[in-house]
Amino acid sequence: MKIENNLKELAAMKAFHKGNREEGLRLQEEFAAAFREEYKDKDHCPCKKACRYHGNCKECVAIHRAHQEHVPNCMRPLLNQKIKLLSELTEHSIANEIEPPKEILRKEFLTKPDPSEPHSK
Ligand code: SF4
Repeated sequence: MKIENNLKELAAMKAFHKGNREEGLRLQEEFAAAFREEYKDKDHCPCKKACRYHGNCKECVAIHRAHQEHVPNCMRPLLNQKIKLLSELTEHSIANEIEPPKEILRKEFLTKPDPSEPHSK
Protein backbone atom coordinates (compact mmCIF):
# COMPACT_ATOMS: atom_id res chain seq x y z
CA MET A 1 0.00 0.00 0.00
CA LYS A 2 1.33 3.37 -1.06
CA ILE A 3 0.84 6.09 1.56
CA GLU A 4 2.00 9.19 -0.29
CA ASN A 5 -0.49 10.19 -3.01
CA ASN A 6 -2.74 7.28 -2.06
CA LEU A 7 -5.58 7.11 -4.59
CA LYS A 8 -8.26 6.48 -1.96
CA GLU A 9 -7.13 9.45 0.10
CA LEU A 10 -6.88 11.67 -3.00
CA ALA A 11 -10.49 10.70 -3.81
CA ALA A 12 -11.48 11.52 -0.22
CA MET A 13 -10.00 15.01 -0.56
CA LYS A 14 -11.79 15.50 -3.87
CA ALA A 15 -15.07 14.65 -2.14
CA PHE A 16 -14.31 17.08 0.71
CA HIS A 17 -13.51 19.86 -1.79
CA LYS A 18 -16.82 19.22 -3.56
CA GLY A 19 -18.57 19.63 -0.23
CA ASN A 20 -19.37 15.94 0.09
CA ARG A 21 -18.13 15.48 3.66
CA GLU A 22 -19.91 12.18 4.19
CA GLU A 23 -18.18 10.57 1.20
CA GLY A 24 -14.85 12.14 2.16
CA LEU A 25 -15.08 10.69 5.65
CA ARG A 26 -16.10 7.29 4.32
CA LEU A 27 -13.13 7.13 1.93
CA GLN A 28 -10.81 8.48 4.60
CA GLU A 29 -11.84 5.74 7.00
CA GLU A 30 -11.30 3.13 4.28
CA PHE A 31 -7.77 4.48 3.84
CA ALA A 32 -7.15 4.50 7.61
CA ALA A 33 -8.50 0.95 7.99
CA ALA A 34 -6.29 -0.33 5.16
CA PHE A 35 -3.31 1.53 6.67
CA ARG A 36 -4.00 0.04 10.13
CA GLU A 37 -4.09 -3.46 8.68
CA GLU A 38 -1.09 -3.19 6.37
CA TYR A 39 1.19 -1.42 8.81
CA LYS A 40 0.31 -3.19 12.02
CA ASP A 41 3.69 -4.95 12.00
CA LYS A 42 5.51 -3.00 9.30
CA ASP A 43 7.57 0.20 9.35
CA HIS A 44 5.52 3.08 7.93
CA CYS A 45 8.03 5.85 8.68
CA PRO A 46 10.11 7.05 5.70
CA CYS A 47 12.56 9.00 7.90
CA LYS A 48 16.15 7.82 7.32
CA LYS A 49 17.68 9.52 10.31
CA ALA A 50 19.22 7.61 13.18
CA CYS A 51 16.50 8.49 15.67
CA ARG A 52 15.14 6.61 18.66
CA TYR A 53 11.62 7.89 17.90
CA HIS A 54 11.55 6.30 14.43
CA GLY A 55 7.97 5.31 13.63
CA ASN A 56 6.66 6.70 16.90
CA CYS A 57 4.53 9.48 15.40
CA LYS A 58 3.01 10.54 18.70
CA GLU A 59 6.35 11.41 20.27
CA CYS A 60 7.96 12.56 17.02
CA VAL A 61 5.18 15.10 16.38
CA ALA A 62 5.21 16.23 20.01
CA ILE A 63 8.95 16.90 19.78
CA HIS A 64 8.54 18.97 16.63
CA ARG A 65 5.59 20.87 18.09
CA ALA A 66 7.67 21.51 21.18
CA HIS A 67 10.77 22.92 19.47
CA GLN A 68 8.82 24.69 16.69
CA GLU A 69 11.79 24.71 14.28
CA HIS A 70 10.70 22.37 11.53
CA VAL A 71 8.28 19.57 10.71
CA PRO A 72 8.67 15.79 11.04
CA ASN A 73 10.86 14.33 8.34
CA CYS A 74 7.97 12.51 6.61
CA MET A 75 6.40 15.89 5.79
CA ARG A 76 9.44 17.17 3.91
CA PRO A 77 8.52 15.92 0.41
CA LEU A 78 5.04 17.43 0.64
CA LEU A 79 6.32 20.79 1.86
CA ASN A 80 9.27 20.83 -0.53
CA GLN A 81 6.86 20.28 -3.41
CA LYS A 82 4.99 23.45 -2.38
CA ILE A 83 8.18 25.40 -1.62
CA LYS A 84 9.55 24.45 -5.03
CA LEU A 85 6.58 26.16 -6.67
CA LEU A 86 7.19 29.32 -4.62
CA SER A 87 10.91 29.11 -5.33
CA GLU A 88 10.15 29.43 -9.07
CA LEU A 89 9.18 33.05 -8.33
CA THR A 90 12.87 33.87 -7.84
CA GLU A 91 14.16 31.39 -10.45
CA HIS A 92 15.30 29.13 -7.60
CA SER A 93 18.03 31.62 -6.70
CA ILE A 94 17.39 30.78 -3.04
CA ALA A 95 19.46 27.66 -3.76
CA ASN A 96 22.53 29.94 -3.80
CA GLU A 97 21.79 31.08 -0.28
CA ILE A 98 21.11 27.80 1.46
CA GLU A 99 22.83 24.50 2.14
CA PRO A 100 21.13 21.38 3.49
CA PRO A 101 22.38 20.33 6.92
CA LYS A 102 24.50 17.23 7.43
CA GLU A 103 22.25 14.56 8.86
CA ILE A 104 23.09 11.44 10.80
CA LEU A 105 21.35 8.58 9.00
CA ARG A 106 20.62 5.03 10.08
CA LYS A 107 23.38 2.68 8.96
CA GLU A 108 21.35 1.11 6.12
CA PHE A 109 21.24 4.52 4.42
CA LEU A 110 24.89 5.43 4.81
CA THR A 111 26.68 5.55 1.46
CA LYS A 112 29.38 2.95 1.16
CA PRO A 113 32.80 4.18 -0.03
CA ASP A 114 33.33 3.59 -3.74
CA PRO A 115 36.46 1.37 -4.10
CA SER A 116 37.16 2.89 -7.55
CA GLU A 117 37.60 6.31 -5.93
CA PRO A 118 41.28 6.92 -5.06
CA HIS A 119 40.56 8.43 -1.62
CA SER A 120 37.91 6.03 -0.45
CA LYS A 121 40.08 3.34 1.21
S1 SF4 B 1 5.64 11.71 12.26
FE1 SF4 B 1 7.76 11.16 12.70
S2 SF4 B 1 7.66 9.02 13.26
FE2 SF4 B 1 5.74 9.50 12.23
S3 SF4 B 1 6.11 8.95 10.09
FE3 SF4 B 1 6.60 11.13 10.35
S4 SF4 B 1 8.80 11.19 10.72
FE4 SF4 B 1 8.11 9.11 11.09
